[in-house]
Amino acid sequence: MIIAIDGPAASGKGTIARRLAAHFGLPHLDTGLLYRATARVLLDQGSKLDDIENAVSAARGLALLDFEEDRLRGREMGEAASVVAAIPQVRAALIDMQRAFAARPQGAVLDGRDIGTVIAPDANIKIFVTASPEIRAQRRSLELRGRGEKVDYPAILEDIRKRDRRDSERADAPLMPADDATILDTTDLNVEGAFAAALDIVGRAQREAL
Ligand code: C5P
Repeated sequence: MIIAIDGPAASGKGTIARRLAAHFGLPHLDTGLLYRATARVLLDQGSKLDDIENAVSAARGLALLDFEEDRLRGREMGEAASVVAAIPQVRAALIDMQRAFAARPQGAVLDGRDIGTVIAPDANIKIFVTASPEIRAQRRSLELRGRGEKVDYPAILEDIRKRDRRDSERADAPLMPADDATILDTTDLNVEGAFAAALDIVGRAQREAL
């Protein structure tokens, strides 16, 4: 079983993906980390984020070590990731490993922006998780405060809007629900409610496939 979870920043998709993976005993890949790690390599090199050659070699050279840093989860790296993610050659450099992960024999859960549309268009289950920008900014503020970062709510809301625009308007693999995805709006749901709703969607899809 392949479960594809897509959606904008702080929609709850990562938590839902992790919980579904644990529930069904499936491996999970947070594909946003690939773009965050690529951006981090460029920033560490002092290279510009839109330098295509350096960005592609950073994406190709990602090693497991690159995913361990707490810094990847910070505010700066999400913004930088969305700049490198708009470069088609970077996306191309990261496709094979994501598809290989999705093709694991036991199945997999992947979350990102283009899983249901590009990486795993044949996924058995596709969920597009969304929520209002204001709620997502609140969630991101709480998360960053929990990590000890200084929180400026209006700036975080602006970040989220800017990132939504960049991710939705890019030409290559823009953020959008696959035609056959189920939309899950988590604006009025807590973590447990969102997970229960996601489980329900998976259960329905499994019954329909019988
Ligand atoms: O999900 P996360 O916030 O970690 O993603 C960081 C950025 O990486 C996104 O804003 C998006 O630009 C990019 N991304 C993408 N495709 C994916 C996952 C993430 O373009 N599958």
